[in-house]
Order: sequence, then structure tokens, then C-alpha cells
Amino acid sequence: MLLTIATTHTPATELGFLLHKHPERCQSFSLTFGQAYVFYPEAQPERCTAALLLDVDPVKLVRGKGARLEQYVSDRPYVASSFLSVAIAQVFSTALAGRCKDKPELAQTPIPLVAKISVLPCRGGESFLRLLFEPLGYTVSAQSYPLDEEFPDWGQSQYFTVELQHTITLSDLLSHLYVLIPVLDDDKHYWVNDDEIEKLLRHGEGWLTTHPARSQITRRYLKRQHRLTREALAQLAEEDNPDPDSVEESHAEEEAIIEKPISLNQQRMNAVIAALKQSTAQRVIDLGCGQGNLLKMLLQDSFFTKITGVDVSHRSLEIAQERLDRLRLLRNQWERLQLIQSALTYQDKRFKDYDAATVIEVIEHLDLPRLSAFERVLFEFARPKTIVLTTPNIEYNVKFTNLPAGKLRHKDHRFEWTRLEFQTWGNNAAEKFGYTVQFQNVGVEDIDVGSPTQMAVFSC
Ligand code: SAH
Repeated sequence: MLLTIATTHTPATELGFLLHKHPERCQSFSLTFGQAYVFYPEAQPERCTAALLLDVDPVKLVRGKGARLEQYVSDRPYVASSFLSVAIAQVFSTALAGRCKDKPELAQTPIPLVAKISVLPCRGGESFLRLLFEPLGYTVSAQSYPLDEEFPDWGQSQYFTVELQHTITLSDLLSHLYVLIPVLDDDKHYWVNDDEIEKLLRHGEGWLTTHPARSQITRRYLKRQHRLTREALAQLAEEDNPDPDSVEESHAEEEAIIEKPISLNQQRMNAVIAALKQSTAQRVIDLGCGQGNLLKMLLQDSFFTKITGVDVSHRSLEIAQERLDRLRLLRNQWERLQLIQSALTYQDKRFKDYDAATVIEVIEHLDLPRLSAFERVLFEFARPKTIVLTTPNIEYNVKFTNLPAGKLRHKDHRFEWTRLEFQTWGNNAAEKFGYTVQFQNVGVEDIDVGSPTQMAVFSC
């Protein structure tokens, strides 16, 4: 059973301080059900990865309990389960609690983190996995496996290799894993008692009360024991009761009805930034930057060394400039930023020499007959190594209760594409201009209509 946690926060080796485990050593810990090892497959200033390897001993698990053969032969030694949560709580207890003697501020700072779980049983499938992690802001990627490669008809297994990306504190990441891994595993053959309520509430503090799947999380975490679930939900509901001072604030938020769009926008930006980092693109040009949503996040992240925004609209650029001016940055950090007024359907020398271009919710604003001109400007003329492009998925529109049937999401949208239309366009463009392309869903995914935003990452 393997969990790795990687960061590109610089210097990345500070992960060793946060975990209280030295990057140059391999350490071993004895647990009641086996042995845990912590080591670092890589420890460079730009990127550092810590690994927690669990060697669960199936004999220890059942010793003295008059076990039958099938209890020795189970998936428990190989998959992430509540044993991983126990290991996190024991081996990374200080990091889980958000404490760090040497770097107390870093422990409280959101940093780019990627957790990878090599084998995670997801009872409820990929959509349930996404339902758990995406509302917390994670970009989720999941690879599923056939039950048996020899017999494709048997279908897919419930085991996934899962990667979770987020800019978040290490303590929050560990808390989410601690609670949600056993929830996904949903193993019923495990003893729970009243202490588990306390653990759930402690590690769920600050996020579980507002999580849209909190009832399912609570029920599964407490192994579907009705009394425990009822008590835990009652305590969560108490926490959720707003105190009078905050009622006004929350009303204002409700009236603005912006909670959902904001969280989708945030998820989109997180996904874009994760894709940029994965491709190690430090010089980024944001084509159709609008009022600077992405530029703002890029500027606040010192990983990015050159950040340029392009838009045809003067007014949008003015607003972007005003918004960015309000950021508190050191003076030399500003030198990375540049705003350019230009149209994306005409060649412009200033679009060249970037590691990556981002095109976020822009192509649907272009007239379809001008799309091929834009393709040439982007793929042929500017030709960055990486292109991250997002657009709405029209199939998802039926899920927006406030959007009349058949309407597009914005009055300036010239078109919105289905998943097939977008992927056909992306595959054609990649082939024509010598790129490879991968597609990702952004936002909570619906089984029938997919996710609200679709993203393509082109590389050459
Ligand atoms: N990427 C931003 C803004 C998306 S709105 C965000 O995600 O928040 C689309 C933006 O594309 C608008 O700001 C619009 O002015 C710009 N745009 C539309 N057509 C354009 C063109 N031909 N050239 C440059 N910018 C264009």
C-alpha cells in the first residue's frame, strides 16, 4: 500500500520539516497490523516527494481470532483503507495536527500538493470519488483497472489509482485523506465505537459541516451504524447553526447566488494551474485573460516567472490591472507581469516565447468561421510547448436550474460544445499541428452529462 505526497513549493525539501521526517533517511515504524516506512523517492529544491509505504501483515490482522482461510486471503494488505488512516495518524501525527516546530508558518500556508494513492478501493465508483474530493477544491484524476485483463467482459474493478492535486495546507490534505479513504473503502468488517465520532468530528473540523456529501461521509465512516451516525450528524448540525452575527453575512452570500459559480471557477483555475505545473511551464501567456482571474493566481505563485495577459477588450484589461494592483506583492514580483491588448485571431509577435498558453473559457466567444484563424495563431505561430484550454460542456446545462432549456450560459457565447464535439475538435487540432492532447473533466461530474467544464491539455 503506497501513498506519495509531492510538492513543488520552493524549496520543496521543506516538506521534510512539515512531515518531521528527514528526506535523506528511510524510517520504519511498527504498527499493530504491520510495518510502515517513510522515505523520499525524490528530494530536489524544485520538487520533493515523500512516500508512506504500508506493509500490512494479513496474519497479524486475524491472529487469535479463529480465522478462516478467506480472512487471510483478502485485499487488505494491498489497498488503501482505514489502516492507512491509522498509519497517517501515528506516523504523521504532528503534521496532521498542523504543527511544525521549525516552520510554523509553513504548516499554516497552502502549498501545491499532489497526493497519489496507488490502489484505492472506491465503492461507489469514480463519480463518488469526485463527489468527495472535488467540493474540497481538489483536481482529481483516477485510473481504473479491469477486473481481469483476460476477460474484458467482466468489466472494471472497484480499484483505482488516484491523484489528488490542490494548493492547500499539508494538515488539511492529511485530514481529508484520514476521513475520506475509509469512506471510499467502506469496509464493513471493522469495529467502530463512540471514539470514532470524536475522531470524525476532530479531523472533519472546518470542512465536514459544509460538505455536500456530509451525510454519506458520516454514515460510511461510522460503518453504517445508525445510532452513531445519528449522533454524529446531530453534532455536525449544531456546528452548522450560524451564530447571529454571521447571519447577515451569509444572507448576503446567498443573495448573490454566486457560491456555486465561484467554486466552479476556483476549481477551473486550480485545474489549470495544476496542469501548468505538471508540464513545468513557468512562462505563461493567458489568451483572453478577461478581468485577470487566472493572472491573479499566477502572480501569487512564485513558481511562475513570466505572466502575460492578452485580451481584445480595453475595459477588461483596465479592470484586470486595477484588481491586480490591489495584490500585496514584493516589488520585484511585479516585473513578471505584462498586459497586452490584442486580438487572438491575428498573428502577434508578442505571443511567442512562452512555455505555455492558457485559453480559459474563450473559444466559445469566437465566431465559428474565425476559429481556424485562431488555431493557426495559437498552434502554428505562437506554438508554446503546452496549451491548456477550457470551454463549457453544453450537455451539463440541463443541471443548471436557473438556466432556461436550450439557452447558452452567456449571451456572448457563439456556441457551446458537447464532450464529443470538443474532443473531436481537440483531436483534429492536435493532429493537424503536431501536438498530443489529453482531456480532463473539471467540476463535479454527473454520470449522464459529464462535468460542467471540459479541459484539454495539448503538448508538443
Ligand atoms: N479567461 C477569462 C475570461 C473569459 S471571458 C476567465 O476565465 O475569467 C472571454 C474573454 O475573451 C473576454 O475577456 C473577451 O474580451 C475575450 N475575447 C473574446 N474574443 C477575443 C478575441 N478575438 N481576441 C482576444 N480576446 C477575446
